[in-house]
Amino acid sequence: MEAGRIVTGETIHPSNCPICGLDNDCGNLSGKPRGTCWCSRESFPDEIFDLVPSHQMNQSCICRDCLSAFKNGRQDEKAE
Ligand SMILES: [Zn+2]
Repeated sequence: MEAGRIVTGETIHPSNCPICGLDNDCGNLSGKPRGTCWCSRESFPDEIFDLVPSHQMNQSCICRDCLSAFKNGRQDEKAE
């Protein structure tokens, strides 16, 4: 069974999420002025970067799906 494509770190592409390997939809990379991307308005818990391979750190953005999945996984800090 194929359950999505897993990128194993061989290819670093700045438009792909380092966690799931899918398009991260980052506006900073699509030519928009810096700071207009959705990720500039989101808060990324420090712990999520533990999921990012060190060689991909600061190379590619984490996608929304992984961010929300991560946040849903730790509901203890839900502030709403
Ligand atoms: Zn992702």
